[in-house]
Amino acid sequence: MRKRTTALLALAATAALTLSACSSADVGNQGGATTGTGTGGASGSIKIGVKFDQPGLGFQEGDKHTGFDVDVATYVAGKLGYSADKIQWVESPSAQREQMLQTGAVDMIFATYSITDERKKVVDFAGPYFVAGQDLLVAQDNTDITGPDSLEGKNLCSVTGSTSAQKIKDKYSKGVNLLERPGYAECVTALVAGQVDAVTTDDIILAGLAATPANKGKVKIVGAPFSTERYGVGLPKGSKDTCEKVNDAIKAMIDDGTWQELITKNTEGTGYTPNKDENPPAQDACA
Ligand code: GLU
Repeated sequence: MRKRTTALLALAATAALTLSACSSADVGNQGGATTGTGTGGASGSIKIGVKFDQPGLGFQEGDKHTGFDVDVATYVAGKLGYSADKIQWVESPSAQREQMLQTGAVDMIFATYSITDERKKVVDFAGPYFVAGQDLLVAQDNTDITGPDSLEGKNLCSVTGSTSAQKIKDKYSKGVNLLERPGYAECVTALVAGQVDAVTTDDIILAGLAATPANKGKVKIVGAPFSTERYGVGLPKGSKDTCEKVNDAIKAMIDDGTWQELITKNTEGTGYTPNKDENPPAQDACA
C-alpha cells in the first residue's frame, strides 16, 4: 500500500511538472521572452537549438559553443532579456528541428535553418539574418565536378532533413547516388576517405568544414552556388510577438555593425565571403 502511494505521488509530481512545462512554454509564446521569464520556464533561462558540428556556425568544443549562429543567438537573446549565462544550448540536427520546436525541446533555433514554405506549415520563422547558397565540396584534385549538372554516376553525400538533400532529389537526381548522413561533418569525413565524390550543402557550411585542420588542403569548394538559402530563426507556430522582437533585434544587430563583425570573425581564414547582393538581408514580416 505504502509503495503504491509513493508511486502514485511520483506520478502526480511528474504530471504537475509536465503541466507546468506546458504552461510556461505558452507564456513564452505570448511574448514572455522579453521579460526574461516565461519562455524557458521559472528559471528564466532559454533553450536555444544550434548545430554542434558545423565549425564557424554552430560548434561545440568542450562546454564552449562558437560560431556565427551561436553569436547571433547570443545577441538576440540579450535583446530579449536573457544574458549569455541564461542560455541553454541544445543540439538541433537538421532532421529534428521542426519536431524540437513543436515539442518544446527548444524555444528557438539558430542552426543554418533555411526559411521554406514547407517548414512554415509547422513552425514560424523570424529573419532572415543571413543568406547562403548551396554548393559542392570535392577532393582537392577533382576536376570533373563543376556543378550540380556534372554529378551523373557520382556518389554524393548530404544530410537527412536538409534543403540540400531535398534539392538534389527534386532537381539533380538523375544518375546520382545520394548518401544521407545525420551531419555534414560525417559527409566530409566520407569525402576525405574517398567514400564519396562530393558533399553538398550551403557554401558557408562547406567553407567552415573545409578550413578545419583535418580537412585543409584535401578538399575544395566548387564555387557555383545553385540555390538561395535564407537563414531564419525557427520559432514554435503562433509566435508572432516573439518573431517581431527577434526581427527588431536582428535589425539592430545589422545597423550597429555587429553583424559584419560577427561574419568577419567567424569566417576568418576560410576564404569565404558572403554574397554581397543578398547580405545583410532585410527581415520578412512576421506571420
Ligand atoms: N540551410 C539548409 C537547411 O536548412 C541546409 C543546412 C542545414 O541542414 O542546416 O536545410
